[in-house]
Amino acid sequence: MSVRRVVVLGSTGSIGVNTLDVLARHPQRFEVLALTANTQIDRLFEQCRQYMPAYAVVPDVQSAKKLAEQLHGVAASTEVLVGKEGLEHVATHARADIVVAAIVGAAGLLPALAAVRSGKRVLLANKEPLVMCGHLFLDAAQHSGAELLPVDSEHNAIFQCLPAGFRAGDSVPAIRRILLTCSGGPFRTTAASELVRVTPEQAVAHPNWVMGRKISVDSATLMNKGLELIEACWLFGVKPEKVEVVIHPQSVIHSLVEYADGSVLAQLGNPDMRTPIAHALGFPERIEAGVASLDLFTIGRLDFSPPDTERFPCLGLAQVAAERGGTAPAILNAANEVAVQSFLDRKIGFTDIPRVIEHGLACVAVHEAVTLEVVLGDDAAARAAAQSWVDAQRPVMTQRAT
Ligand code: NAD
Ligand code: MG
Repeated sequence: MSVRRVVVLGSTGSIGVNTLDVLARHPQRFEVLALTANTQIDRLFEQCRQYMPAYAVVPDVQSAKKLAEQLHGVAASTEVLVGKEGLEHVATHARADIVVAAIVGAAGLLPALAAVRSGKRVLLANKEPLVMCGHLFLDAAQHSGAELLPVDSEHNAIFQCLPAGFRAGDSVPAIRRILLTCSGGPFRTTAASELVRVTPEQAVAHPNWVMGRKISVDSATLMNKGLELIEACWLFGVKPEKVEVVIHPQSVIHSLVEYADGSVLAQLGNPDMRTPIAHALGFPERIEAGVASLDLFTIGRLDFSPPDTERFPCLGLAQVAAERGGTAPAILNAANEVAVQSFLDRKIGFTDIPRVIEHGLACVAVHEAVTLEVVLGDDAAARAAAQSWVDAQRPVMTQRAT
């Protein structure tokens, strides 16, 4: 077995840490080539000490200096690189076999796309770039021969239920429906009148998964499911109307595929991201992930219900953007990123999040998403529109607080 060299973009995050946990179980199979971080330089240092990567990437010269000093005499063979160029360098490195795209948000777009363009096996956790310009990823993969493997648990589950030999972007005519499961998030049973008051702390406390703050808020608004719907359309070559969202609070069935003959295939497991990560790292082999066995007797029952788009309007907004196509999903995503950060910064309330996104969608004209420049242009315009909505609220929020 030849050793496969792995680049983990966003190694200090929730997906990054889970990826390193799986990699550490297979030292004969994988070698860590590069690790990257944005703010948690001390955590990156600890990871470098343990995994001895050839490269570590940080956002600026100051962080690079700090990390290089820490590494001196400990992991001196690790070269510290900086910024976007550093990320691109490791994502396209000739010695890299696998690139794990685990940066959060649109910030991960350029390095992930660079990895695809250079023909790597790319493990896509970072869903926002796919939402913004899925066809650019699929076209690039087709061109370069890159292998796109979904790590998002639902998409990995769907991938596992598809015929052998399926490649991202293929269309399987025999698929009748994709059933995308959704835990319902921390406010599944919260009354609409209560949602106005929920805090960032309550929103990031997900009942079944421990994740980064942004995706945790997205899970609370159900925007995460909306982004995942768009992600599924790209990865599995289906129209939005073929994707049905199913609330399943236990998070044991990670998604299902229904075929023309009425068969419904599902993938089950404990809610632990090491399962989809290990699946994609080892594919097509199955490798140990450190995940406990599923105890069906303890789980006892599995529940299902339709989503409530009145209490959670973000899901409806994403469905409309998916149907509209073009740059609409990029506009939706950009406005959502601004809205979520503003909510986490306590500048707006939880129920303002869909209002910010609606404003972004109303202000920015949708274009055909023909090039990266067009997509990034509409992304920037949506961020500006969303920010102006947030700024207009600030005096009100300050008044409320005093
Ligand atoms: P996180 O916030 O825990 O980690 C994000 C990582 O990205 C960190 O390493 C951070 O340093 C890096 N990063 C952030 N901003 C950056 C920037 N501007 N430039 C460079 N690096 C930057 O997030 P997460 O929960 O690990 O999620 C990562 C991605 O995976 C997201 O797109 C999320 O939607 C997706 N995802 C996460 C989970 C999960 O269980 N956490 C599940 C499915 C999909
Ligand atoms: Mg998911």
